[in-house]
Amino acid sequence: LLADVDVTYGTGSAAVVALRKVNISFTAAEFTAVMGPSGSGKSTLLKCAAGLMSPTSGSVRLGDLELTAMPEAELAVVRRRKIGFVFQAFNLLPALTAEENITLPSLLDKREIDREWLAELIRKFGLEERTGHRPHELSGGQQQRVAVCRALLGRPDVIFADEPTGALDSHAGQQVLDGLRTAVDTMGQSVVMVTHNPVAAAHADRVVFLADGTVVDKLEKPTSDAVASRMNRLERRA
Ligand code: ATP
Ligand code: MG
Repeated sequence: LLADVDVTYGTGSAAVVALRKVNISFTAAEFTAVMGPSGSGKSTLLKCAAGLMSPTSGSVRLGDLELTAMPEAELAVVRRRKIGFVFQAFNLLPALTAEENITLPSLLDKREIDREWLAELIRKFGLEERTGHRPHELSGGQQQRVAVCRALLGRPDVIFADEPTGALDSHAGQQVLDGLRTAVDTMGQSVVMVTHNPVAAAHADRVVFLADGTVVDKLEKPTSDAVASRMNRLERRA
């Protein structure tokens, strides 16, 4: 939950306002897509909601935890246990294999790894032949799928995904969208996904549109046509 969140990068004449007075809540078992023109603040919104950066002002809560008031060490634990994040640039560790990248958050937390679930994810995302490879030996789409598996393995309460289908062809993209949909429908997780693709957004339960750092529109039960026409309107305005 974000309440009155403002984010300004830099200071003085170099200041960039990325978010202004954003109020938004994400509930369990709900799939939200976040859309908006490039630079509208989507990645910033996700990073704030996930406790990866603190807003300039305003409050961010996860359940009854106030993330904005939490010391970094405590916040790191919350992030690993309750939050899954798929970064726009994947953020895999280059020295680790695909499988090691997937299991790292659990290992850091000394949590037991659900081996069956791990094997199922690896199979579901077509990575069986790639578990021992390092990121530089993987295609962009494979790295993206590794990042998605890493976010899903610990069954976090919330999964934030920044363009998780951006580097994927339509088959692999569909696998990722199905995986996120299943997380919502069968495990009651909450998924928040940034995307530029109206077809991907149509897999969500609702779409939130950002422009210039503010929420300007929302769409429930989106169809790809309805999403595309709202996006067109926004981009013409921008
Ligand atoms: P895209 O679709 O291109 O990924 P976005 O909607 O995710 O864009 P953000 O990355 O959230 O946009 O950026 C919002 C604004 O904040 C942009 O104007 C951007 O230039 C600026 N910005 C983002 N990160 C920083 C930073 N670390 N320092 C300064 N300005 C930043
Ligand atoms: Mg972005």
